[in-house]
Amino acid sequence: MGNNQSAGRIGATRRAFLSASAVTAAAFPFLTGTARAAATGPALVSQDPDNELRHLLNQIDPSRIQATIEALVSFGTRHTASSQTDPVRGIGAATNWVFAQMQGFAAASNGNMTVQKQTFVQPVSNRILVPTTITNVIATLQGTASPARYYVVTGHLDSRVTDVLDFTSDAPGADDDGSGVAVVLELVRLFATQQFPGTLVLATVAGEEQGLYGSAFMAAQMAAAGNDVQGMFSNDIVGASHSFDGHPPNPHLLRMFVEGVPTNATTSSVALLQAVGGENDSQSRQLGRFLTDVAPFNLTNMNIRTIWRRDRYLRGSDHLSFQAHGFPAARLTEPRENFDHEHQNTQVTDGVQFGDLIDFVDFDFIGRVAGVNAATLWALATNPGTPKNAQIHTTPPGTLSGTNFTTLSWNANPEADIAGYEVVMRETTEDDWTSAIDVGNVTGITLDISKDNVQFGIRAVDQAGHRSPVAFPQAVA
Ligand SMILES: [Zn+2]
Repeated sequence: MGNNQSAGRIGATRRAFLSASAVTAAAFPFLTGTARAAATGPALVSQDPDNELRHLLNQIDPSRIQATIEALVSFGTRHTASSQTDPVRGIGAATNWVFAQMQGFAAASNGNMTVQKQTFVQPVSNRILVPTTITNVIATLQGTASPARYYVVTGHLDSRVTDVLDFTSDAPGADDDGSGVAVVLELVRLFATQQFPGTLVLATVAGEEQGLYGSAFMAAQMAAAGNDVQGMFSNDIVGASHSFDGHPPNPHLLRMFVEGVPTNATTSSVALLQAVGGENDSQSRQLGRFLTDVAPFNLTNMNIRTIWRRDRYLRGSDHLSFQAHGFPAARLTEPRENFDHEHQNTQVTDGVQFGDLIDFVDFDFIGRVAGVNAATLWALATNPGTPKNAQIHTTPPGTLSGTNFTTLSWNANPEADIAGYEVVMRETTEDDWTSAIDVGNVTGITLDISKDNVQFGIRAVDQAGHRSPVAFPQAVA
C-alpha cells in the first residue's frame, strides 16, 4: 500500500475519528489526582513542518549523491578484510575518503560538528578469519538546549560479493550500501550549518556484512557512555527505485521496518506485553509512527510503507545493534530489491548482469530518502524528547474504587519550553494514534476512560506546538 493514499487516508480518518472522540470525551468528565483537569477536547494535530526545514530539503543535491557513490565504487572493494593501507583500493582508502568528506563539511559548523574515527579490533569469527581493524566514521552535531538526547542515522560502508569471505574481487556496493553512505554524507553536509536542541549522530558503520560489527560496537559504546539514544535509523539499500525484474518502478515509495516485540525483550517483559496487549507499542513502533507524522509526502515527495517486522524476512541490518540495547530504531530500504544486484560477483551470466552496479541506482530517489531522514531528524532534535517513566497505574489512587478509570503518570520533561502534555489514544485495532487530550502541564492524570478498551500514550508539547514521540506507559501496580 502506498502512502500517498495512506497519508490522505490517515488525515481523513483522523479528522473523522477526532470529531467522534471529541463528543465521547465531552461525555466523560476528567478526574484528577493531584493535578488539574484540563479537558480541552481531543485534537490529534498533524505537525506542520518548519519553513526552515522546507528550505533545507530544497538543498538536497542528487548530483552530490551521484558523486559520492561514484567515489565509493572507485575503491574497487570495501570488503572488511580488504586493504587498510592501499591508498586507492579497499576499505582503508574508502574510510579515509569518508572521513575527509565529513571533516570538510564540518568545517562550516563553527565547531558545533565534530568528526571522529571510531576504531576497534574485531576478534575472529566465522566471517572474520583474522583479528581485523574495523572503523566507523561518526559526525556529531552537538545539541544546544538538551544535548543529552541523541538521534542516530547510519549507512554501512563495507561491501561484499557472492562469497562473504572474498575480499579481493570487485564489490562496488553502489546500492548496498553506497546509497546509505550517500544519505549520511548528504545529511552531514545539510546539518553542518544547523543547530538543534538535541544531538545528531550521523555515521558510516563498517563490518555490517560480516555480522553488524561496526554498529554493534558503536551502539555498545553509546550504551556504556549512558547516551540517551531516543531514535536510530539504518539506511541500508536505499538506492534503487526500480527493481528491473519486470515490476514497474516505484520511485516515491520507501519501506520502513519496525519491530513489535523488542529485540531486548526478556521473558518477564514479554509476559507483560502479553498481559496488556502491548505487542504493537514498542518504542520502535512509536518512532516509526513519529516518522510518518513528521515526514509526510507533501514534504518529502516520498510515501512510507510501514512494515510491522523487525527487518526483511529473517534478515537484519544495523538497527538491530541499537535495538539490542533497548534504543528505538527502524530500518529504511528501497521498495523492491533485485537480488541479482546484491551480494553478487559482478558478471554477466546467460545475458543477465549480476552485481551491485551504479547503473541500477537512482540518485533522485536517494535524495528523497535523504529528505525523509532530514525531516525526521529535524523534528526529533527540535521537538521535546520522549517523556520518561510513563506509567499506567493498575491500582486506583486514593478514594477511587472503580476500575474503569485510567491513571497515567510520567516524569516532567527537562526542556525549558515545555507547554504541557497530551494523552494520545486509539482503538486497539487502529494502526496509529487517532486522538489526543491536552492535559496541561502536569505529570499525572486520571481519566474516566477504561484502559481495558483503548491504547494510551503520552507525548510532550512545547510552546511552539512541537510534539515529542509518544511514550507507551508501562503497567505498574
Ligand atoms: Zn547492507
